[in-house]
Amino acid sequence: MKCPYCGSEGVEAVKSWDMPKMGYRVTHYRCKNCGGLFNHYVGRGKEFVLRVGPRRKT
Ligand SMILES: [Zn+2]
Repeated sequence: MKCPYCGSEGVEAVKSWDMPKMGYRVTHYRCKNCGGLFNHYVGRGKEFVLRVGPRRKT
Protein backbone atom coordinates (compact mmCIF):
# COMPACT_ATOMS: atom_id res chain seq x y z
CA MET A 1 0.00 0.00 0.00
CA LYS A 2 1.34 3.39 -1.02
CA CYS A 3 0.40 6.78 0.31
CA PRO A 4 -1.63 8.65 -2.38
CA TYR A 5 -0.18 11.95 -1.19
CA CYS A 6 3.56 11.40 -1.10
CA GLY A 7 4.00 7.88 -2.54
CA SER A 8 5.64 6.55 0.60
CA GLU A 9 5.03 2.92 1.53
CA GLY A 10 5.35 3.77 5.20
CA VAL A 11 1.66 3.61 5.93
CA GLU A 12 -0.15 1.92 8.78
CA ALA A 13 -3.68 0.57 9.01
CA VAL A 14 -5.57 2.47 11.69
CA LYS A 15 -8.80 0.52 11.55
CA SER A 16 -11.01 -1.40 9.18
CA TRP A 17 -14.68 -2.13 8.85
CA ASP A 18 -17.22 -3.64 6.51
CA MET A 19 -19.77 -1.86 4.38
CA PRO A 20 -22.29 -4.68 3.83
CA LYS A 21 -24.65 -2.57 1.74
CA MET A 22 -21.88 -1.60 -0.65
CA GLY A 23 -20.13 -4.95 -0.47
CA TYR A 24 -16.84 -3.35 0.42
CA ARG A 25 -14.25 -3.84 3.07
CA VAL A 26 -12.72 -0.53 4.10
CA THR A 27 -9.35 -0.02 5.70
CA HIS A 28 -8.39 3.36 7.07
CA TYR A 29 -4.70 4.16 6.69
CA ARG A 30 -2.40 6.82 7.98
CA CYS A 31 0.89 7.72 6.35
CA LYS A 32 3.79 7.83 8.77
CA ASN A 33 5.77 10.01 6.37
CA CYS A 34 3.39 12.90 5.68
CA GLY A 35 0.51 12.18 8.07
CA GLY A 36 -1.99 11.88 5.23
CA LEU A 37 -5.17 9.90 5.80
CA PHE A 38 -6.90 7.72 3.24
CA ASN A 39 -9.33 4.84 2.93
CA HIS A 40 -8.76 1.70 0.93
CA TYR A 41 -11.91 0.02 -0.39
CA VAL A 42 -11.85 -3.60 -1.50
CA GLY A 43 -14.76 -5.64 -2.74
CA ARG A 44 -16.48 -7.32 -5.63
CA GLY A 45 -13.33 -7.75 -7.64
CA LYS A 46 -12.21 -4.16 -7.48
CA GLU A 47 -10.47 -1.80 -5.17
CA PHE A 48 -9.78 1.89 -4.93
CA VAL A 49 -8.37 4.54 -2.65
CA LEU A 50 -10.10 7.67 -1.47
CA ARG A 51 -8.21 10.50 0.13
CA VAL A 52 -9.56 11.68 3.43
CA GLY A 53 -8.64 15.25 4.19
CA PRO A 54 -4.89 15.73 4.07
CA ARG A 55 -3.38 17.03 7.25
CA ARG A 56 -2.16 20.54 6.74
CA LYS A 57 0.93 21.97 8.31
CA THR A 58 0.41 25.49 9.56
ZN1 LIG B 1 2.30 10.24 2.70
